Amino acid sequence: MSSKSDTGAKEMAELLRSGAKMLSYSCPQCGSPLFQLKTGEIWCAKCKRRVIIVPETEEVSTVEKKQLLWEALEQNLMEKISSLNKMLYAESDLSRVKEVLEVLISLLSSIEKLRNIRKT
Ligand SMILES: [Zn+2]
Repeated sequence: MSSKSDTGAKEMAELLRSGAKMLSYSCPQCGSPLFQLKTGEIWCAKCKRRVIIVPETEEVSTVEKKQLLWEALEQNLMEKISSLNKMLYAESDLSRVKEVLEVLISLLSSIEKLRNIRKT
């Protein structure tokens, strides 16, 4: 009777039965899926050891933070455009109008780039 469980499949099944949750992360050592035990520990069934990874919740909040940053940035750019719009309205000096328009155009292209980044 040789119980050479190289794949760790048996251990994985046992982990699942014990209430452990399979994560979308894989072990940095062996690449097999990681499990979160009921105790909260991350476990690799194949290496039979505890693995430290960045907790899922932290990763989500990083994404959220990034999203908030982009939103704040876009908001700022829009406000600048809004104040430039007022300047443009009040400005009668053509060379000043040209200056304002140049800034406006670069702001618009910044927003365009920002939106492209956010899509990825
Ligand atoms: Zn492993």
